Amino acid sequence: MNIILFGPPGAGKGTQAEKLINHFQIPHLSTGNIFRENIKNETPLGKKVKSILDEGKLVSDETVIELVEDELNKKKYEDGVVLDGFPRTVVQAEALDSYFKNKGSQVDAFVTLSVPEEELVNRILSRGEGRSDDTPEKIKTRLKVYHDETAPVLSYYEQKGIVKVIDGLGSIEEIFERTLKALS
Ligand code: AMP
Repeated sequence: MNIILFGPPGAGKGTQAEKLINHFQIPHLSTGNIFRENIKNETPLGKKVKSILDEGKLVSDETVIELVEDELNKKKYEDGVVLDGFPRTVVQAEALDSYFKNKGSQVDAFVTLSVPEEELVNRILSRGEGRSDDTPEKIKTRLKVYHDETAPVLSYYEQKGIVKVIDGLGSIEEIFERTLKALS
């Protein structure tokens, strides 16, 4: 089963992704985590994307698509994936669809976590993960990028009829229960 976990920064995608992968026993693919790991290890990719992540902007579609395709080609993803943080543009969504189509597969569910904007900012500021892009100014940029470039991905999948909108307010368990119900 291929699941996309979608939503604005601070909606809880990472937390719910962890719960979903444990429940369904399918691997997690977080582009943000892969980028942060590469930055930490000072790899060529890390050096290329560091300033972009620091600013809260988007890494180029070309770079992200190549990364995700290379990753998805690994054997561990052959029975499915929980995608978190990808696709973030319509170009990425189209590339993902054609990737799956070539493999005789498809996106099975698109789960979007709905959280009011003030709550998003509070959550990010209080999560204390020490991320360089978790400052008030960078959060503002990330939310703007989300509205301008990422939100259209929701309309793209709405046309395909696979979108599940989940109320992202409440405890982690409550949100997870809602997600499981929507997927069943
Ligand atoms: P995240 O951990 O998903 O919030 O991602 C952190 C940062 O990584 C984003 O603000 C972007 O700079 C970059 N990033 C992650 N995923 C993508 C993507 N699919 N497209 C472009 N940039 C991305």
